Amino acid sequence: MLGEGILKGLAETARNFAGSFVSAERLTTVQYPEQRIAPIEATRDFPFLVYDGADWEAGMRCVACQICEKECPPQCIYIEKSKDKKPDFVGKPQFYPARFDIDISVCMSCQICVEVCPFEAIKMDTEFELSTEDRFGGLLFDRKELAKPNEHYHKIHPTEAAEVDARLAEEKAKADAKAKAAAEAAAAKAAAPAKTAAVGDAAAKPAEGASRA
Ligand code: SF4
Ligand code: SF4
Repeated sequence: MLGEGILKGLAETARNFAGSFVSAERLTTVQYPEQRIAPIEATRDFPFLVYDGADWEAGMRCVACQICEKECPPQCIYIEKSKDKKPDFVGKPQFYPARFDIDISVCMSCQICVEVCPFEAIKMDTEFELSTEDRFGGLLFDRKELAKPNEHYHKIHPTEAAEVDARLAEEKAKADAKAKAAAEAAAAKAAAPAKTAAVGDAAAKPAEGASRA
């Protein structure tokens, strides 16, 4: 029916308006900033960079692949790749961002940078009280300002963060198993010539004995 959606919306508004006089649950607004509603799990505002451990620089997951920089629709991410490498969460040497800036005044909170990141390194924050009088510098966040611990990610998006942790743990277990198998194969290869030499010596001894007889 034409206008059915509008009528349903108006009925819901009327139910909340009348109901708010008798039930706190029907109060859909609060007296901000004195009162605040905790953001729901799916809330998203601006991106932050996830790091593991206590050291934000050493634990930063970002490997400066620059995919997010290329895919960001308003081009508000700026990355400079490092010259050296540092180990990632599986111990593999990776580049890291020597510079990683996001111009929050331009970001449109689309989350595309999060979707395209193959390293679970960038996620959406729920922090929205970022107003400042400094239109440019005050909203141009560098990598230190963007870096937040994995614990923060768990606090704001617990379900998603737990899934990411499980995926990363699985990847780490696979990498550890591969490294262990490679080390065992290398050890077996190194031991093989010694074993062959020992077998050769054992075979030579009876021959020597036979010539003495
Ligand atoms: S949320 Fe969208 S606009 Fe903002 S930095 Fe990410 S890709 Fe760019
Ligand atoms: S945040 Fe992700 S996609 Fe962007 S540069 Fe770092 S690793 Fe690459």
